[in-house]
Amino acid sequence: MSLNSHIEWTDATWNPVRGCVKISPGCKHCYAETFAERFRGVKGHPYEQGFDLRLVPEKLMEPFSWRSPKLVFVNSMSDLFQDGIPDTYVEAVSQVMTKANWHTYQVLTKRSERLARLLNGRLRLAAEQEHVWWGVSVEDCKYGLPRIDDLRRAPATVRFLSIEPLLEDLGKIDLAGITWVIVGGESGPGARPMKREWVSSIRDQCKASGVPFFFKQWGGVRKIKNGRMLDGRTYDEYPRRVINPVPDRSACYSSAQALLRMFGTPFAPMPLVQLSS
Ligand code: SF4
Repeated sequence: MSLNSHIEWTDATWNPVRGCVKISPGCKHCYAETFAERFRGVKGHPYEQGFDLRLVPEKLMEPFSWRSPKLVFVNSMSDLFQDGIPDTYVEAVSQVMTKANWHTYQVLTKRSERLARLLNGRLRLAAEQEHVWWGVSVEDCKYGLPRIDDLRRAPATVRFLSIEPLLEDLGKIDLAGITWVIVGGESGPGARPMKREWVSSIRDQCKASGVPFFFKQWGGVRKIKNGRMLDGRTYDEYPRRVINPVPDRSACYSSAQALLRMFGTPFAPMPLVQLSS
């Protein structure tokens, strides 16, 4: 888990999966791929295998070791709902989120059909938790907008959209059932441009629907210089956040132990001794 994430809308990242496969235009300049591939072949590095998909069971129980409540971006370096991750492992991640409930989790995916299917099935309990926020990426009309309908089909208590990188005007968006919207432009070499009116249209629709709006950045090659002001101000709105009490160490340990017993050995998660430190 990484504390002090540089991502504007979260505190920390938790990656029980690493690596991914590109599926739509929003993936073109995937920052996770660029980062991971830098370390391919570096012996002992977490990204020794570059961006190849793999489970990281030794990270599975990590939220239990984090004692103060955090806003946690789940799988910032992957996509939890991609093919190749067994349902049982996705469910294990969801059970950790459900039990370690003093954190708020942000789960973001481009695989919205599987999200909807699992949240209607074995992930139903996690779907209903107010401290677990479920989101889809929306970069354009063709690939992005249908994901919003899938998300709406999921029985999630908190649903959010990460409209980043915004690649075109999305027109009128159906925001029914959506709890939070983040918008941002692409950054880094080759960044595709984002027009001001595309952003202000989404902001205005959020305002009209009473949906909190977070404007992350204009992006571009010089992201810092371009900043995150929109019409003379920043937008840092969030949905209501439930902060559950942090259990004492022994309760936390027992809770983690019960989960480990339930998982059995297929994922060989991190040893419990690390949870009590
Ligand atoms: S889905 Fe996300 S993590 Fe996966 S390749 Fe696309 S941008 Fe990268």
